[in-house]
Amino acid sequence: MLYPWQIETWQRFTQQYEQQRVPHAVILTGVSGLGQLTLAEKMAMLVLCEQQDLIEPCGECHSCQLFLAGNHPDHTVISPEEDGKQIKIEQIRGLKQKQTLTANVSQWKTAILMPAEAMNINASNSLLKLLEEPQQNTFLILISSALAHLPITILSRCQKVPSSLPSADMAISWLKSEGDFIQTDIEKALTMAKSAPLTALSLLADGSLDYLEQVSRDFTALLQHKANPVQLAQQWQKYDLKLVMHYLQLRLKDRIANNSKQQNLRSNPQNWQIYDCIINTIKLLSSSNNINKVLLIEQFMVSVMDYPTSENTVLNH
Ligand SMILES: [Zn+2]
Repeated sequence: MLYPWQIETWQRFTQQYEQQRVPHAVILTGVSGLGQLTLAEKMAMLVLCEQQDLIEPCGECHSCQLFLAGNHPDHTVISPEEDGKQIKIEQIRGLKQKQTLTANVSQWKTAILMPAEAMNINASNSLLKLLEEPQQNTFLILISSALAHLPITILSRCQKVPSSLPSADMAISWLKSEGDFIQTDIEKALTMAKSAPLTALSLLADGSLDYLEQVSRDFTALLQHKANPVQLAQQWQKYDLKLVMHYLQLRLKDRIANNSKQQNLRSNPQNWQIYDCIINTIKLLSSSNNINKVLLIEQFMVSVMDYPTSENTVLNH
């Protein structure tokens, strides 16, 4: 099932499909939290469906059944083998091999690669060759929310399919249909998720909305040197620390952007230094080493407090 904000994009794709103008490769762009994988899967399912005169996958043919069961032999999904890791060249080689074989069930072979920016340099180079010499009846769908991290050579060979954020009304009414949430919480979650509905939904559903507000207050206290890192680190270890760090990263990014827009405010190098601290902490949290999380968070807090107090770095709640 597509999300309501994807309907227009879907209709444009089905027009291409009807006119037999499906490109060899597309890249679905837009912020994360819009359900890009759902859209990509429906595109692949339609192309593979045996009922080729329809503009919706029939859901009943052998191909659709296999696809829905998650084991269609002509469809490949490529993602990092571990969360937060890179997509490796061996995975792209596997795809290449598969694309040279004859299709088993359908007349097409499809693949979804996400997130595309997770490819390491060797994997990108290997994919580029595949894009330069596409096999007939192959359809590759890349998904990325960080186009700046992808080589231009790859981007120029994929048709861009941008997804924009839904209107506030659409996002709110969709979230209301997903659970028993109150309007003020929905609005708060959407603000924190920068209007991405699926991100907002996970904030509402797992209770993290409450603690992110607390995190925001704690972080302001740290910046003003009014917090005790040892006590705070104990408190924060109960949270989803990656989510916390991504949230702080997002808020600080906004802060930096706003500061640079306001000519009367000096640009503040501390914001960038704290930003680097956040990035480093995310990297350490993502590494598979057995890290002491309390210690890591404590170190993060101490380094934030090492910077001189500044009004510019205080986050707005
Ligand atoms: Zn079908």
